[in-house]
Amino acid sequence: MTFVSDLIEPERRTPVAMDVDICVVGGGAAGVAAAVSAAQCGARVALVERYGFLGGTLTTVSLGSICGLYSVKGREVTPVVGGFVDQVVRELDQLGGRGETVHWLKTASLPYDLFKMKVALDRLTAIEGLDVMLHSLVVGVAKDGEHLTHVLVETREGRVAIRARQFIDCSGDADLCARSGAPFDLDLENLQQPTAMFRMMDVDAEAVARTDRAALHQHLERAVNDGLDLPRTAGGVFMERPGLVHLNITKVSIDGAAPHPLSSRELTKAERLGREQVLLYERAFNQYVPGYASARVLDTGAAIGVRESRRILGEYVLTGEDVLGLARFPDAIACCAWPMEDHAAGRATRWVWLEEGGHFQIPYRSLLPRGVDNLLVAGRCASADHAAQASIRVTAQCFAMGEAAGVAAATAVDQGCRPADVPAHELRHALQARGAIIETTP
Ligand SMILES: Cc1cc2nc3c(=O)[nH]c(=O)nc-3n(C[C@H](O)[C@H](O)[C@H](O)COP(=O)(O)OP(=O)(O)OC[C@H]3O[C@@H](n4cnc5c(N)ncnc54)[C@H](O)[C@@H]3O)c2cc1C
Repeated sequence: MTFVSDLIEPERRTPVAMDVDICVVGGGAAGVAAAVSAAQCGARVALVERYGFLGGTLTTVSLGSICGLYSVKGREVTPVVGGFVDQVVRELDQLGGRGETVHWLKTASLPYDLFKMKVALDRLTAIEGLDVMLHSLVVGVAKDGEHLTHVLVETREGRVAIRARQFIDCSGDADLCARSGAPFDLDLENLQQPTAMFRMMDVDAEAVARTDRAALHQHLERAVNDGLDLPRTAGGVFMERPGLVHLNITKVSIDGAAPHPLSSRELTKAERLGREQVLLYERAFNQYVPGYASARVLDTGAAIGVRESRRILGEYVLTGEDVLGLARFPDAIACCAWPMEDHAAGRATRWVWLEEGGHFQIPYRSLLPRGVDNLLVAGRCASADHAAQASIRVTAQCFAMGEAAGVAAATAVDQGCRPADVPAHELRHALQARGAIIETTP
Protein backbone atom coordinates (compact mmCIF):
# COMPACT_ATOMS: atom_id res chain seq x y z
CA MET A 1 0.00 0.00 0.00
CA THR A 2 1.25 3.52 -0.65
CA PHE A 3 0.70 6.14 2.05
CA VAL A 4 -0.25 9.79 1.75
CA SER A 5 0.94 10.89 5.22
CA ASP A 6 1.15 9.73 8.88
CA LEU A 7 -1.33 10.19 11.71
CA ILE A 8 -0.19 9.98 15.33
CA GLU A 9 -2.93 8.12 17.22
CA PRO A 10 -3.67 9.32 20.76
CA GLU A 11 -2.45 7.06 23.58
CA ARG A 12 -5.27 4.80 24.74
CA ARG A 13 -6.30 2.72 27.75
CA THR A 14 -7.46 -0.75 26.66
CA PRO A 15 -9.71 -2.85 28.91
CA VAL A 16 -8.58 -6.43 29.56
CA ALA A 17 -11.62 -8.52 28.64
CA MET A 18 -10.26 -11.94 29.60
CA ASP A 19 -7.50 -13.49 31.67
CA VAL A 20 -7.00 -17.09 30.54
CA ASP A 21 -4.40 -19.83 30.46
CA ILE A 22 -4.21 -20.05 26.68
CA CYS A 23 -5.21 -17.71 23.88
CA VAL A 24 -5.60 -19.24 20.40
CA VAL A 25 -5.64 -16.82 17.46
CA GLY A 26 -7.57 -18.05 14.40
CA GLY A 27 -10.49 -20.49 14.33
CA GLY A 28 -9.55 -22.60 11.29
CA ALA A 29 -8.83 -26.33 11.42
CA ALA A 30 -5.65 -25.79 13.46
CA GLY A 31 -7.20 -23.23 15.81
CA VAL A 32 -10.34 -25.20 16.62
CA ALA A 33 -8.25 -28.33 17.25
CA ALA A 34 -5.82 -26.38 19.47
CA ALA A 35 -8.54 -24.66 21.49
CA VAL A 36 -10.74 -27.73 22.05
CA SER A 37 -7.78 -29.99 22.86
CA ALA A 38 -6.34 -27.49 25.36
CA ALA A 39 -9.75 -27.07 27.04
CA GLN A 40 -10.17 -30.86 27.16
CA CYS A 41 -6.85 -30.94 29.06
CA GLY A 42 -8.40 -28.63 31.66
CA ALA A 43 -7.03 -25.26 30.53
CA ARG A 44 -9.09 -22.04 30.39
CA VAL A 45 -8.94 -21.04 26.74
CA ALA A 46 -9.94 -18.09 24.54
CA LEU A 47 -10.36 -18.68 20.79
CA VAL A 48 -10.39 -15.50 18.68
CA GLU A 49 -11.69 -15.58 15.10
CA ARG A 50 -12.23 -12.68 12.70
CA TYR A 51 -15.20 -14.15 10.78
CA GLY A 52 -18.67 -15.11 12.05
CA PHE A 53 -18.10 -18.87 11.96
CA LEU A 54 -15.33 -21.38 12.60
CA GLY A 55 -13.43 -23.57 10.14
CA GLY A 56 -11.14 -21.10 8.35
CA THR A 57 -10.36 -22.31 4.83
CA LEU A 58 -12.63 -25.35 5.37
CA THR A 59 -15.75 -23.18 5.62
CA THR A 60 -14.70 -19.68 4.50
CA VAL A 61 -13.18 -20.78 1.21
CA SER A 62 -15.32 -23.95 1.05
CA LEU A 63 -13.30 -26.97 0.02
CA GLY A 64 -15.57 -29.97 -0.37
CA SER A 65 -13.31 -32.64 1.10
CA ILE A 66 -10.83 -33.23 3.90
CA CYS A 67 -7.44 -34.23 2.53
CA GLY A 68 -4.52 -35.76 4.40
CA LEU A 69 -6.44 -38.33 6.44
CA TYR A 70 -4.98 -41.43 4.76
CA SER A 71 -2.02 -43.05 3.11
CA VAL A 72 -3.09 -44.91 -0.01
CA LYS A 73 -1.66 -48.03 -1.63
CA GLY A 74 -3.67 -49.13 -4.63
CA ARG A 75 -7.25 -49.21 -3.31
CA GLU A 76 -6.06 -49.77 0.27
CA VAL A 77 -6.60 -46.76 2.54
CA THR A 78 -4.84 -46.46 5.93
CA PRO A 79 -5.59 -43.60 8.34
CA VAL A 80 -2.51 -41.53 9.25
CA VAL A 81 -4.33 -38.93 11.36
CA GLY A 82 -6.57 -39.58 14.38
CA GLY A 83 -7.42 -37.83 17.63
CA PHE A 84 -9.29 -34.55 17.31
CA VAL A 85 -10.21 -35.14 13.68
CA ASP A 86 -12.16 -38.24 14.81
CA GLN A 87 -14.29 -35.96 17.01
CA VAL A 88 -14.99 -33.76 13.98
CA VAL A 89 -15.95 -36.72 11.80
CA ARG A 90 -18.22 -38.14 14.55
CA GLU A 91 -19.98 -34.79 14.95
CA LEU A 92 -20.42 -34.49 11.17
CA ASP A 93 -21.79 -38.02 11.10
CA GLN A 94 -24.42 -37.17 13.71
CA LEU A 95 -25.47 -34.16 11.64
CA GLY A 96 -25.59 -36.19 8.43
CA GLY A 97 -22.77 -34.07 7.00
CA ARG A 98 -20.11 -36.71 6.38
CA GLY A 99 -19.58 -38.08 2.87
CA GLU A 100 -18.01 -41.39 1.76
CA THR A 101 -14.25 -41.58 1.19
CA VAL A 102 -13.45 -40.90 -2.47
CA HIS A 103 -10.36 -42.03 -4.41
CA TRP A 104 -8.85 -39.59 -6.90
CA LEU A 105 -5.46 -39.44 -8.60
CA LYS A 106 -3.26 -41.57 -6.31
CA THR A 107 -4.97 -40.43 -3.14
CA ALA A 108 -8.28 -40.31 -1.23
CA SER A 109 -10.24 -37.75 0.77
CA LEU A 110 -13.42 -37.37 2.83
CA PRO A 111 -16.20 -35.10 1.48
CA TYR A 112 -18.20 -33.01 3.95
CA ASP A 113 -21.26 -30.78 3.93
CA LEU A 114 -20.16 -27.15 4.15
CA PHE A 115 -22.99 -25.84 6.36
CA LYS A 116 -22.92 -28.86 8.66
CA MET A 117 -19.17 -28.44 9.13
CA LYS A 118 -19.86 -24.96 10.57
CA VAL A 119 -22.43 -26.41 13.00
CA ALA A 120 -20.18 -29.34 13.92
CA LEU A 121 -17.39 -26.91 14.89
CA ASP A 122 -19.86 -24.73 16.86
CA ARG A 123 -20.89 -27.80 18.85
CA LEU A 124 -17.36 -29.08 19.41
CA THR A 125 -16.28 -25.72 20.77
CA ALA A 126 -19.30 -25.36 23.10
CA ILE A 127 -17.41 -26.92 26.02
CA GLU A 128 -16.42 -26.03 29.56
CA GLY A 129 -13.39 -23.77 29.77
CA LEU A 130 -13.47 -22.56 26.15
CA ASP A 131 -14.59 -19.03 25.33
CA VAL A 132 -15.09 -18.43 21.59
CA MET A 133 -14.97 -14.83 20.30
CA LEU A 134 -16.18 -14.49 16.71
CA HIS A 135 -16.14 -11.20 14.77
CA SER A 136 -12.90 -10.38 16.58
CA LEU A 137 -9.62 -9.49 14.86
CA VAL A 138 -6.25 -9.68 16.61
CA VAL A 139 -4.39 -6.49 15.72
CA GLY A 140 -1.46 -6.31 18.11
CA VAL A 141 0.38 -7.68 21.12
CA ALA A 142 1.89 -6.56 24.41
CA LYS A 143 5.20 -8.12 25.46
CA ASP A 144 7.54 -8.21 28.38
CA GLY A 145 10.95 -8.98 26.88
CA GLU A 146 10.61 -12.27 25.01
CA HIS A 147 7.36 -13.05 26.80
CA LEU A 148 3.95 -12.30 25.29
CA THR A 149 1.53 -10.96 27.89
CA HIS A 150 -1.57 -9.88 25.91
CA VAL A 151 -3.10 -9.82 22.46
CA LEU A 152 -5.01 -6.73 21.34
CA VAL A 153 -8.33 -7.50 19.71
CA GLU A 154 -10.72 -5.29 17.69
CA THR A 155 -14.22 -6.44 18.61
CA ARG A 156 -17.68 -5.10 17.77
CA GLU A 157 -17.50 -3.35 21.19
CA GLY A 158 -14.16 -1.74 20.46
CA ARG A 159 -10.60 -2.71 21.25
CA VAL A 160 -9.94 -5.08 24.16
CA ALA A 161 -6.94 -7.02 25.42
CA ILE A 162 -6.77 -10.71 26.33
CA ARG A 163 -4.18 -11.75 28.86
CA ALA A 164 -2.85 -15.31 28.74
CA ARG A 165 0.05 -17.45 29.90
CA GLN A 166 0.49 -19.24 26.57
CA PHE A 167 -0.45 -18.21 23.03
CA ILE A 168 -1.00 -20.27 19.88
CA ASP A 169 -0.87 -18.71 16.43
CA CYS A 170 -3.34 -20.53 14.14
CA SER A 171 -4.05 -17.52 11.92
CA GLY A 172 -2.82 -19.25 8.76
CA ASP A 173 -0.86 -16.09 7.94
CA ALA A 174 1.24 -16.19 11.14
CA ASP A 175 -0.19 -12.79 12.13
CA LEU A 176 0.50 -13.29 15.83
CA CYS A 177 4.06 -14.53 15.28
CA ALA A 178 4.80 -11.59 12.97
CA ARG A 179 3.37 -9.09 15.46
CA SER A 180 5.40 -10.73 18.23
CA GLY A 181 8.68 -10.42 16.30
CA ALA A 182 9.19 -14.15 15.56
CA PRO A 183 11.15 -14.73 12.33
CA PHE A 184 9.30 -15.98 9.25
CA ASP A 185 9.74 -16.50 5.52
CA LEU A 186 7.46 -14.90 2.91
CA ASP A 187 8.78 -15.79 -0.53
CA LEU A 188 6.72 -13.58 -2.85
CA GLU A 189 8.56 -14.87 -5.95
CA ASN A 190 7.59 -18.46 -5.28
CA LEU A 191 4.16 -18.36 -3.61
CA GLN A 192 1.42 -20.80 -4.52
CA GLN A 193 -1.41 -19.08 -6.37
CA PRO A 194 -4.84 -18.70 -4.72
CA THR A 195 -8.18 -20.05 -5.91
CA ALA A 196 -11.72 -18.67 -5.76
CA MET A 197 -13.65 -21.82 -4.87
CA PHE A 198 -17.24 -22.09 -6.05
CA ARG A 199 -20.20 -24.45 -5.99
CA MET A 200 -22.44 -25.35 -8.91
CA MET A 201 -25.99 -26.62 -8.54
CA ASP A 202 -28.25 -28.54 -10.92
CA VAL A 203 -25.45 -30.77 -12.20
CA ASP A 204 -26.22 -34.25 -13.49
CA ALA A 205 -24.68 -36.39 -10.73
CA GLU A 206 -24.26 -39.51 -12.86
CA ALA A 207 -22.52 -37.72 -15.72
CA VAL A 208 -20.24 -35.95 -13.25
CA ALA A 209 -19.36 -39.27 -11.60
CA ARG A 210 -18.35 -40.67 -15.01
CA THR A 211 -16.01 -37.70 -15.73
CA ASP A 212 -12.67 -38.30 -14.05
CA ARG A 213 -9.88 -35.70 -13.74
CA ALA A 214 -8.25 -36.73 -17.02
CA ALA A 215 -11.53 -36.42 -18.93
CA LEU A 216 -12.29 -33.07 -17.28
CA HIS A 217 -8.84 -31.84 -18.34
CA GLN A 218 -9.54 -32.82 -21.96
CA HIS A 219 -12.92 -31.08 -22.01
CA LEU A 220 -11.45 -27.88 -20.59
CA GLU A 221 -8.46 -28.00 -22.99
CA ARG A 222 -11.02 -28.04 -25.82
CA ALA A 223 -12.56 -24.90 -24.36
CA VAL A 224 -9.11 -23.26 -24.29
CA ASN A 225 -8.48 -24.27 -27.92
CA ASP A 226 -11.79 -22.65 -28.82
CA GLY A 227 -10.60 -19.38 -27.30
CA LEU A 228 -11.79 -19.43 -23.64
CA ASP A 229 -8.85 -18.12 -21.62
CA LEU A 230 -9.10 -20.52 -18.66
CA PRO A 231 -6.11 -20.19 -16.30
CA ARG A 232 -6.33 -23.86 -15.34
CA THR A 233 -7.62 -26.99 -17.05
CA ALA A 234 -6.83 -29.48 -14.27
CA GLY A 235 -8.78 -29.30 -11.05
CA GLY A 236 -10.96 -31.00 -8.47
CA VAL A 237 -14.70 -31.58 -8.38
CA PHE A 238 -16.28 -32.84 -5.16
CA MET A 239 -19.93 -33.84 -4.90
CA GLU A 240 -21.33 -32.32 -1.69
CA ARG A 241 -24.75 -33.88 -2.32
CA PRO A 242 -26.48 -35.09 -5.49
CA GLY A 243 -26.64 -32.18 -7.93
CA LEU A 244 -24.30 -29.91 -5.95
CA VAL A 245 -20.53 -29.83 -6.53
CA HIS A 246 -17.53 -27.90 -5.23
CA LEU A 247 -15.02 -26.85 -7.85
CA ASN A 248 -11.37 -26.21 -7.18
CA ILE A 249 -10.41 -24.91 -10.60
CA THR A 250 -9.81 -21.13 -10.79
CA LYS A 251 -6.29 -19.78 -10.30
CA VAL A 252 -5.74 -16.10 -9.66
CA SER A 253 -2.57 -14.19 -10.46
CA ILE A 254 -1.69 -10.53 -10.95
CA ASP A 255 0.84 -9.92 -13.74
CA GLY A 256 1.63 -13.64 -13.73
CA ALA A 257 2.44 -13.84 -10.00
CA ALA A 258 0.47 -14.80 -6.88
CA PRO A 259 -1.22 -11.73 -5.36
CA HIS A 260 0.47 -10.48 -2.19
CA PRO A 261 -1.48 -12.43 0.48
CA LEU A 262 -1.08 -9.65 3.06
CA SER A 263 -1.96 -6.66 0.87
CA SER A 264 -5.57 -5.48 1.06
CA ARG A 265 -5.22 -3.83 -2.33
CA GLU A 266 -3.92 -6.99 -4.04
CA LEU A 267 -6.47 -9.17 -2.26
CA THR A 268 -9.21 -6.81 -3.44
CA LYS A 269 -8.03 -7.28 -7.03
CA ALA A 270 -7.72 -11.03 -6.50
CA GLU A 271 -11.28 -11.38 -5.15
CA ARG A 272 -12.69 -9.49 -8.15
CA LEU A 273 -10.58 -11.41 -10.68
CA GLY A 274 -11.61 -14.67 -8.98
CA ARG A 275 -15.31 -13.91 -9.42
CA GLU A 276 -14.82 -13.02 -13.10
CA GLN A 277 -13.00 -16.34 -13.56
CA VAL A 278 -15.89 -18.19 -11.93
CA LEU A 279 -18.25 -16.75 -14.57
CA LEU A 280 -15.86 -17.86 -17.30
CA TYR A 281 -15.74 -21.39 -15.87
CA GLU A 282 -19.53 -21.48 -15.64
CA ARG A 283 -19.58 -20.89 -19.42
CA ALA A 284 -16.88 -23.47 -20.05
CA PHE A 285 -18.58 -26.13 -17.93
CA ASN A 286 -22.00 -25.42 -19.49
CA GLN A 287 -20.63 -25.79 -23.01
CA TYR A 288 -17.85 -28.36 -22.76
CA VAL A 289 -18.25 -30.65 -19.75
CA PRO A 290 -20.86 -33.45 -19.69
CA GLY A 291 -23.39 -33.11 -16.88
CA TYR A 292 -23.17 -29.33 -16.56
CA ALA A 293 -25.36 -28.13 -19.45
CA SER A 294 -27.95 -26.56 -17.13
CA ALA A 295 -25.76 -26.10 -14.09
CA ARG A 296 -25.46 -22.68 -12.41
CA VAL A 297 -23.04 -21.15 -9.95
CA LEU A 298 -24.64 -21.31 -6.51
CA ASP A 299 -22.00 -19.28 -4.67
CA THR A 300 -18.32 -18.61 -4.17
CA GLY A 301 -16.51 -19.00 -0.87
CA ALA A 302 -16.75 -16.05 1.52
CA ALA A 303 -13.10 -15.25 0.71
CA ILE A 304 -10.55 -16.25 -1.89
CA GLY A 305 -8.47 -19.27 -0.84
CA VAL A 306 -4.90 -18.34 0.04
CA ARG A 307 -2.67 -21.42 0.09
CA GLU A 308 0.56 -19.91 1.31
CA SER A 309 1.74 -16.72 2.97
CA ARG A 310 4.13 -16.38 5.91
CA ARG A 311 5.87 -19.58 7.01
CA ILE A 312 7.48 -19.50 10.45
CA LEU A 313 11.22 -20.14 10.81
CA GLY A 314 10.95 -22.24 13.96
CA GLU A 315 13.22 -24.54 15.96
CA TYR A 316 13.06 -26.98 13.02
CA VAL A 317 12.18 -26.11 9.43
CA LEU A 318 10.58 -29.14 7.76
CA THR A 319 11.90 -29.54 4.20
CA GLY A 320 10.88 -31.07 0.89
CA GLU A 321 13.72 -33.60 1.42
CA ASP A 322 12.10 -34.66 4.71
CA VAL A 323 8.82 -35.18 2.87
CA LEU A 324 10.27 -37.31 0.08
CA GLY A 325 12.69 -39.10 2.44
CA LEU A 326 9.73 -40.16 4.67
CA ALA A 327 11.53 -38.54 7.62
CA ARG A 328 11.05 -39.75 11.19
CA PHE A 329 11.71 -37.51 14.22
CA PRO A 330 12.18 -38.29 17.93
CA ASP A 331 9.76 -35.45 18.71
CA ALA A 332 7.19 -36.35 16.03
CA ILE A 333 3.65 -35.17 16.78
CA ALA A 334 1.84 -36.11 13.55
CA CYS A 335 2.08 -38.07 10.31
CA CYS A 336 1.51 -36.96 6.75
CA ALA A 337 1.19 -38.91 3.51
CA TRP A 338 -0.14 -36.10 1.33
CA PRO A 339 1.94 -35.32 -1.78
CA MET A 340 3.50 -31.93 -2.37
CA GLU A 341 0.65 -30.18 -4.18
CA ASP A 342 1.96 -26.95 -5.65
CA HIS A 343 -0.44 -24.58 -7.38
CA ALA A 344 2.32 -22.74 -9.21
CA ALA A 345 1.89 -20.67 -12.39
CA GLY A 346 0.54 -22.54 -15.45
CA ARG A 347 -2.63 -24.46 -16.33
CA ALA A 348 -1.68 -27.58 -14.30
CA THR A 349 -0.98 -28.31 -10.62
CA ARG A 350 2.51 -29.70 -9.79
CA TRP A 351 2.16 -32.95 -7.84
CA VAL A 352 5.23 -34.55 -6.27
CA TRP A 353 4.29 -37.94 -4.87
CA LEU A 354 5.67 -39.80 -1.85
CA GLU A 355 6.56 -43.46 -2.20
CA GLU A 356 3.24 -45.32 -2.49
CA GLY A 357 1.79 -46.07 0.96
CA GLY A 358 4.55 -44.09 2.70
CA HIS A 359 4.37 -41.17 5.11
CA PHE A 360 6.68 -38.78 6.94
CA GLN A 361 6.40 -37.22 10.38
CA ILE A 362 6.04 -33.62 11.53
CA PRO A 363 8.26 -32.73 14.50
CA TYR A 364 7.12 -30.73 17.53
CA ARG A 365 9.98 -28.27 16.88
CA SER A 366 8.14 -27.12 13.71
CA LEU A 367 5.48 -25.72 16.06
CA LEU A 368 7.98 -23.68 18.09
CA PRO A 369 8.66 -20.17 16.77
CA ARG A 370 12.02 -18.66 17.74
CA GLY A 371 12.47 -15.58 19.90
CA VAL A 372 9.20 -15.66 21.89
CA ASP A 373 9.15 -18.04 24.84
CA ASN A 374 5.39 -18.63 25.33
CA LEU A 375 4.19 -18.94 21.74
CA LEU A 376 3.31 -21.95 19.58
CA VAL A 377 2.25 -22.05 15.93
CA ALA A 378 0.12 -24.62 14.09
CA GLY A 379 -1.45 -25.07 10.68
CA ARG A 380 -0.43 -23.86 7.26
CA CYS A 381 1.99 -21.26 8.68
CA ALA A 382 3.99 -23.80 10.76
CA SER A 383 7.75 -24.00 10.28
CA ALA A 384 8.33 -25.61 6.86
CA ASP A 385 9.93 -24.66 3.57
CA HIS A 386 7.84 -23.97 0.46
CA ALA A 387 8.01 -27.60 -0.71
CA ALA A 388 7.10 -29.19 2.63
CA GLN A 389 4.32 -26.65 3.24
CA ALA A 390 2.77 -27.80 -0.05
CA SER A 391 2.22 -31.14 1.69
CA ILE A 392 1.47 -30.40 5.37
CA ARG A 393 -0.96 -27.53 4.65
CA VAL A 394 -3.96 -29.84 4.05
CA THR A 395 -6.76 -30.00 6.59
CA ALA A 396 -6.09 -33.27 8.42
CA GLN A 397 -2.50 -32.26 9.20
CA CYS A 398 -3.69 -28.80 10.34
CA PHE A 399 -6.08 -30.53 12.76
CA ALA A 400 -3.22 -32.75 13.99
CA MET A 401 -0.76 -29.87 14.43
CA GLY A 402 -3.42 -27.83 16.23
CA GLU A 403 -4.18 -30.67 18.60
CA ALA A 404 -0.47 -31.08 19.39
CA ALA A 405 -0.06 -27.35 20.01
CA GLY A 406 -3.14 -27.27 22.26
CA VAL A 407 -1.99 -30.22 24.38
CA ALA A 408 1.56 -28.84 24.55
CA ALA A 409 0.35 -25.40 25.66
CA ALA A 410 -1.89 -26.96 28.34
CA THR A 411 1.07 -29.03 29.57
CA ALA A 412 3.25 -25.90 29.68
CA VAL A 413 0.58 -24.15 31.79
CA ASP A 414 0.35 -27.15 34.15
CA GLN A 415 4.09 -27.50 34.54
CA GLY A 416 4.78 -23.74 34.60
CA CYS A 417 7.36 -24.14 31.84
CA ARG A 418 7.99 -22.89 28.30
CA PRO A 419 6.46 -24.91 25.45
CA ALA A 420 10.03 -25.61 24.32
CA ASP A 421 10.63 -27.38 27.66
CA VAL A 422 7.62 -29.71 27.42
CA PRO A 423 9.19 -33.19 27.20
CA ALA A 424 8.47 -34.54 23.70
CA HIS A 425 7.86 -38.11 24.94
CA GLU A 426 5.21 -36.85 27.41
CA LEU A 427 3.52 -34.90 24.64
CA ARG A 428 3.53 -37.91 22.34
CA HIS A 429 2.00 -40.12 25.01
CA ALA A 430 -0.69 -37.56 25.76
CA LEU A 431 -1.51 -37.28 22.05
CA GLN A 432 -1.59 -41.03 21.54
CA ALA A 433 -3.92 -41.37 24.53
CA ARG A 434 -6.28 -39.01 22.68
CA GLY A 435 -6.19 -41.22 19.58
CA ALA A 436 -3.56 -39.32 17.60
CA ILE A 437 -1.57 -41.46 15.17
CA ILE A 438 2.16 -40.92 15.47
CA GLU A 439 3.87 -44.28 15.04
CA THR A 440 2.69 -46.39 12.14
CA THR A 441 4.73 -48.96 10.26
CA PRO A 442 6.73 -47.24 7.47
C1 LIG B 1 -8.24 -22.93 -2.56
C2 LIG B 1 -7.82 -23.96 -1.56
C3 LIG B 1 -8.25 -25.27 -1.74
C4 LIG B 1 -7.89 -26.23 -0.82
N1 LIG B 1 -8.38 -27.50 -0.97
C5 LIG B 1 -8.24 -28.36 0.05
C6 LIG B 1 -8.98 -29.58 0.07
O1 LIG B 1 -9.74 -29.88 -0.86
N2 LIG B 1 -8.84 -30.39 1.13
C7 LIG B 1 -8.01 -30.07 2.18
O2 LIG B 1 -7.93 -30.83 3.12
N3 LIG B 1 -7.29 -28.95 2.18
C8 LIG B 1 -7.41 -28.06 1.16
N4 LIG B 1 -6.76 -26.87 1.22
C9 LIG B 1 -5.80 -26.61 2.32
C10 LIG B 1 -6.41 -26.42 3.68
O3 LIG B 1 -7.76 -26.22 3.64
C11 LIG B 1 -5.84 -25.26 4.47
O4 LIG B 1 -4.49 -25.11 4.26
C12 LIG B 1 -6.09 -25.48 5.95
O5 LIG B 1 -7.47 -25.60 6.18
C13 LIG B 1 -5.50 -24.37 6.72
O6 LIG B 1 -5.94 -24.43 8.06
P1 LIG B 1 -5.37 -23.44 9.15
O7 LIG B 1 -6.17 -23.64 10.36
O8 LIG B 1 -3.89 -23.55 9.23
O9 LIG B 1 -5.59 -21.96 8.54
P2 LIG B 1 -6.89 -21.25 8.00
O10 LIG B 1 -7.87 -22.19 7.48
O11 LIG B 1 -6.37 -20.17 7.09
O12 LIG B 1 -7.52 -20.57 9.29
C14 LIG B 1 -7.00 -19.43 9.88
C15 LIG B 1 -8.10 -18.73 10.63
O13 LIG B 1 -7.56 -17.62 11.32
C16 LIG B 1 -8.41 -16.49 11.17
N5 LIG B 1 -7.56 -15.31 11.32
C17 LIG B 1 -6.52 -14.95 10.54
N6 LIG B 1 -5.94 -13.85 11.03
C18 LIG B 1 -6.63 -13.50 12.15
C19 LIG B 1 -6.49 -12.45 13.09
N7 LIG B 1 -5.54 -11.54 13.00
N8 LIG B 1 -7.38 -12.39 14.12
C20 LIG B 1 -8.37 -13.33 14.23
N9 LIG B 1 -8.54 -14.35 13.36
C21 LIG B 1 -7.67 -14.43 12.34
C22 LIG B 1 -8.98 -16.66 9.78
O14 LIG B 1 -10.19 -15.94 9.60
C23 LIG B 1 -9.18 -18.17 9.70
O15 LIG B 1 -10.44 -18.57 10.16
C24 LIG B 1 -7.07 -25.88 0.30
C25 LIG B 1 -6.63 -24.57 0.46
C26 LIG B 1 -7.02 -23.63 -0.45
C27 LIG B 1 -6.58 -22.21 -0.21
